[in-house]
Amino acid sequence: MKNKRLRSFRKKAVLVTLAALLLTIILPLGGCFEEMENDPMWDGDGYENTSETSTESETSLESETLAEGESSVDGEGETAAELTFETFTYEDVPNYAGFYYTEINGNVPFFTEEEIAEANQEYYEYYSPLDDLGRCGYAMASVDTALMPTEERGDIYWVHPSGWQKNSGYERTHLIAFQIAGENANEQNLITGTHYLNGEGMLPFEEMVGDYVRETNTRVLYRVTPIYVGDELVARGVLMEAMSLADQGEDILYNIFVYNVFNPDEHKLIDYMTGEVYEGDLEIDETAAMDVTYIINRNSGTFHLPNCEGVESMNEKNKIYFTGTREELIEDGYKPCPRCNP
Ligand SMILES: [Zn+2]
Repeated sequence: MKNKRLRSFRKKAVLVTLAALLLTIILPLGGCFEEMENDPMWDGDGYENTSETSTESETSLESETLAEGESSVDGEGETAAELTFETFTYEDVPNYAGFYYTEINGNVPFFTEEEIAEANQEYYEYYSPLDDLGRCGYAMASVDTALMPTEERGDIYWVHPSGWQKNSGYERTHLIAFQIAGENANEQNLITGTHYLNGEGMLPFEEMVGDYVRETNTRVLYRVTPIYVGDELVARGVLMEAMSLADQGEDILYNIFVYNVFNPDEHKLIDYMTGEVYEGDLEIDETAAMDVTYIINRNSGTFHLPNCEGVESMNEKNKIYFTGTREELIEDGYKPCPRCNP
């Protein structure tokens, strides 16, 4: 089921973008509102001030667009530059919708032909040097069994990533997981993160890569990038990209942003500038949730509306967030849930 899903994602990358636009217009009539309104966490303020847009970077984005003269395929008159790894910023990330992660660029990684060719040729791991503020940059690897750890994990408590605050409930979060490249106490590979990011949001995607490389003994091109806003010391989240190389992404292909927030149930917020944690309710943007049309159960192959009771009881690891049409899912062999009847 896993493989099949990823294959279908790739084929539909372009369609999905178009479909997402349409659905953003059509879907507000659908059932997803119900869940949010009944959600005790939902305070009704989610519509207001949901993005902290910096006018400065907005302007620079626009001028870039004009300079390159590129226009987006789906932008109906609106000018938007084609998203690349270099141009991607937090501004391109949809508002937090109550899920761990969101798909970026139609779930297709930003890897270039050269990067793919190089990764095919030889395995490697790369960690960006810390910047002037002591922050990690991207970590990238052509993951191979040769990189995988043969020793037990050692102590990492001496590493203090940027924005680290003691006793605040943070976890030292590996960009490239220890199980994938065996890098443990490398300060260029550890950021300040929440358990929600590290132990829940990122983990299934790390395991997907680790398990795959171990099982197939082939390589996966993999990159994890902390995304900061301005001079903030704590990343807003991480961009995770992966592509299986032997089959050009047939089995593994994803590009997601995982939010660095505390679980909404913890009522804790992060001051990303300093790393200080304070009490408060996380804003959940209901309109962003509309981008997810269906939730598939990885195990059963059943798909649901996001507000179905069946989704609530589903283990997060088994969920696949899908943006697209019902017909596409049925064509791919998924079955509609008899309860929510999507
Ligand atoms: Zn259902």
